[in-house]
Order: sequence, then C-alpha cells, then structure tokens
Amino acid sequence: MIGVDNLKMDWQSLTIVSSVLLFGFLENIFPFFHFQSTFDQRTYPNIILGVLNVTVNSLTIAAVLHWIWRQKMWYGFLHYVKLPWLSICISFVLLDLYLYVWHRMMHSFSFAWRFHKVHHTEISMNTSTAYRFHIVEVISSNIPKLLLVWLFGIQPVHLLVYELTLAIELVFHHSNWAIPKKVDKLLSKIIVTPNFHRLHHSQVFEESQSNYASFFSFWDKMFKSYSYPKYPEKIKLGLSQHNHDLNILKLILLPLKNN
Ligand SMILES: [Zn+2]
Ligand SMILES: [Zn+2]
Repeated sequence: MIGVDNLKMDWQSLTIVSSVLLFGFLENIFPFFHFQSTFDQRTYPNIILGVLNVTVNSLTIAAVLHWIWRQKMWYGFLHYVKLPWLSICISFVLLDLYLYVWHRMMHSFSFAWRFHKVHHTEISMNTSTAYRFHIVEVISSNIPKLLLVWLFGIQPVHLLVYELTLAIELVFHHSNWAIPKKVDKLLSKIIVTPNFHRLHHSQVFEESQSNYASFFSFWDKMFKSYSYPKYPEKIKLGLSQHNHDLNILKLILLPLKNN
C-alpha cells in the first residue's frame, strides 16, 4: 500500500486507525470463529509486519511519487479527461483492477507465491491480517502501481481516496466479525466481504484459487474466479503445512523455505 502519510494528511491516518479499532472491537464482541490463540498471538506478528511495511514502503516510494507528480514530460491519459468525477472513478477502477491482477499473479507463479503465502499462513484471520504481508511483496507491488500512476496521470488526491478506501476495506474483509449471513452475501455482490474473502483463505487449494478481488468483487465475476461459500463456518483457514502460529522471524524467512 502506498503510504498515505507521505501525502501529509494526518486525518487519513486517524481514519485508518479508527477503522482498525472499530472492526477490532466488533470482531471481539461478535466473533465469527472462536479461535484457540490469544489476542497477542493473533495480532503481535501482524502488527510488527504492518509497522515494518508501512515504514519501509513510505521511505522507498515517496521520492518516486514526488518525481511523477512534478515532472512535465508526460501528464498521463487522464489529463485529457476534463470531468473531475470521471477522472476519480477511472483512477479508482484502474487501481482496483491492477490489484486484482497482481493478487492473481501472486498465486500463479511459484516464486511470487513464496512471498504471498506469508499472508495465507494466518490460521486466525482477524483485522490485523490486513497487514500480514511480506515486505518484498509490499515493495514490489508498488513498481507496476507507480507505473500506472505515471502512465495515466493519477492525481495525488485520487490515489489517496483509493488507498484510504482500500485500507478500510482490507481491515473490514479480514475481520472476524460475524455480520449477518444475508447482509454479507448481498454486500459481496459489489464489494469484498468477510465470508467472500474467507474462502480465499481456505486450506482447500481449489477454494483458495478464487476471490482474488480486494475492493470490488465484480472483478472475480468478470474473470471467472468468483465463488461464494455455501458454508462459511466450515472453512478451515490457513495452509495445511503450517497449521500453527508462526513467529515474526519465521514469517520473514518463510520465502526461503521450500514447502
Ligand atoms: Zn491470496
Ligand atoms: Zn487476505
């Protein structure tokens, strides 16, 4: 995720923290699964990964973004779209489509999967899982995204709107909050919901090869990877070969292991 703090809007960070606290509160009051692990075991490695990712990510992409938005060689295709609302909608859809393609690629190539599986080793999916990504995946995901920002001339505020909405959505769909089944199913026709994303975290290989979307669920419909779970309460989360909690060091070194 591109660091919103680079864009010098502190209220944005506050919104993200508030969403973590809100969904964190809801998943504790109305849990979907009753996990064996303690709160510390569930959240500690994810929080460390999150802090590391946001810090390194912000430091590495700030300069590139600064250059893209200052350079005068190429203003991007969206420069020719004169309606601001249309420009923001196109930017939002483009960034979300990119994330769908990226996520699908992480599952399609064995080298990429080595890094992405860190996210899938989560056996107690909760709000903090939204930040459980290997640093290499986070940094490399920005390279095509920065190219997209440059090619289309996506404006800082438009990027910020997407990043902020996505950050809240990621926390929402990873939460262990038991929202009513009917509401989840209805919402999943437009956006990614907890039950919809739970299937992607299933230990059953075929089930994990579905629901790659991050914000709009229609990408999965469009690219034939949509699958809504019939019995979400029966989903076994995680990876069969890693059926226990991993500490932070094991998570960082996981891509070096062969299984
Ligand atoms: Zn995945
Ligand atoms: Zn996930």
